[in-house]
Amino acid sequence: MKAAFYSEGKVVITEVELKQLRDQWARLRVGKTGLCGTDLFKFSHTLPDFHTKILGHEFIGQVEDLCGLGSKIERGDWVAAIPLIPCGTCELCRQHRQNLCLGGQAIGRTFEGALSEYVDVPIANLVKIEGPLDCYVLADPLAVCVHAIRNAGLEHNQTCLVVGDGAIGGLLAWLLHQMGFATWIKGVHHEHLQFMEKLGVDTLTSSIRADRFDCVFETVGRSQAGTLDECLCAVKSGGRLVVLGVFAEGYIYPLAARNLFIREVELYGSNSYVLEDFQRAVELIRLNGKVLGEFITHRLPLSRIEEALLIANKKEGLTLKVLLEIGEFI
Ligand SMILES: [Zn+2]
Ligand SMILES: [Zn+2]
Repeated sequence: MKAAFYSEGKVVITEVELKQLRDQWARLRVGKTGLCGTDLFKFSHTLPDFHTKILGHEFIGQVEDLCGLGSKIERGDWVAAIPLIPCGTCELCRQHRQNLCLGGQAIGRTFEGALSEYVDVPIANLVKIEGPLDCYVLADPLAVCVHAIRNAGLEHNQTCLVVGDGAIGGLLAWLLHQMGFATWIKGVHHEHLQFMEKLGVDTLTSSIRADRFDCVFETVGRSQAGTLDECLCAVKSGGRLVVLGVFAEGYIYPLAARNLFIREVELYGSNSYVLEDFQRAVELIRLNGKVLGEFITHRLPLSRIEEALLIANKKEGLTLKVLLEIGEFI
């Protein structure tokens, strides 16, 4: 099969041999795969030895083969797939916090990913999809947002601010607005903010008035202190600050900690999601496919992956989700 193979900071399309299908796993013919910010980061850095050289964890595909009986999934079904593979036995898994599993593995990290013609996934990770299929590529990032909103513990009529206008920030602000919360998004990409305004979300570009929002979501991360400080300033006394942004490994954050104490701000991390969040994301896409489809701004064949990475990195104009079209059959 053809796969986009990471090789010393570059990506090359290579012929890769298919392995034997594991018990209780399914083999999917990949339809489409979305590029995630973490993929972009990995493509420009050295991957640790344990890491697969085939990335891609946001994908849909058609079941080609199954190893295992008694599942609701059949050959030929179209599915979205959860990339996370928890151990199922550790304390956190038993507390139904599989997203935090200490021995957790994942498609596109410890197992070969979906920037490839075929991908193998545990059958238990598959959710059937139907109708216009494209937008189900967003099930993974949208599930991240569903989980973050659950962590926010919002109450009726509360006000929310999302800081960061990338795909996660945009999807999160859309979902909060959709759920009836007065929602603002702050970002630096003019076209992205215009797009959010069209979806009914209020936007901010200048500095934020202090002490204003019940809940603030940080979605930028990386190696910078600016956005988290802004968030901490913008959240009301007694409010909650939810951090989804992926901060760089080893980055030590200079925090105005006195603010947490004086104003009793709760600082909350939110990492990926569990099965129910993913199922809810799939349901949201089924109901709102048309509007969510607009978050997919670029579609390129797998053979043009280098160009796709360039587009996703540059973020010129409206660049939310960049998608690789792999199967020729949708
Ligand atoms: Zn992702
Ligand atoms: Zn576990």
